[in-house]
Amino acid sequence: MSNRLQPILPEHDTQEFWDGAKAGELRYQTCDACKGVVFTPRSHCTECGSTKLTTRASKGLGTVYTYSVVRQNRSPAFADLGAYAVAYVDLDEGFRMLTGIVGVGDPTKEVKIGMRVQVEFEPQDSGEYPVPVFRPA
Ligand SMILES: [Zn+2]
Repeated sequence: MSNRLQPILPEHDTQEFWDGAKAGELRYQTCDACKGVVFTPRSHCTECGSTKLTTRASKGLGTVYTYSVVRQNRSPAFADLGAYAVAYVDLDEGFRMLTGIVGVGDPTKEVKIGMRVQVEFEPQDSGEYPVPVFRPA
C-alpha cells in the first residue's frame, strides 16, 4: 500500500479515468473527428478542438521514454518509498504518461530508457482510487 494523493472528485474531465483505475483499466481518449489520441483526459481534442471524444481502455503496455530517480522525498505521500523512479512511458496506443516505475530493486541501475513496462494499479492507504504505475514487462 502507498499513500499517494487522491483525486478530488467529482471532476468532469477525469472521473472516467479514475473510475477506470478502480476497475483495473488504464483509460485514454480518441477523437471521433480527427482520430487523434488524447491524454491526459479532458473535454476536447488537443489536435482539432472537437468535443466528440471516445474513452478507450489501453492494453497497459509501453516503453520508458525517459526517467529520473528521486533519492529522497519528504512529502508524507512519498517519504516511505525511499529512492524511486519517475518516468515518462509511451503507451503502445500512442500517448505518453508521467508515472512511477515499481518492481525494480535499485531504480538507479534497473530502470532503462527503452525498457518495456506494463501497468499495474497500486492500492492507496490514502483513499479508494488506486494509482497506475508501471513495472518491467
Ligand atoms: Zn481531434
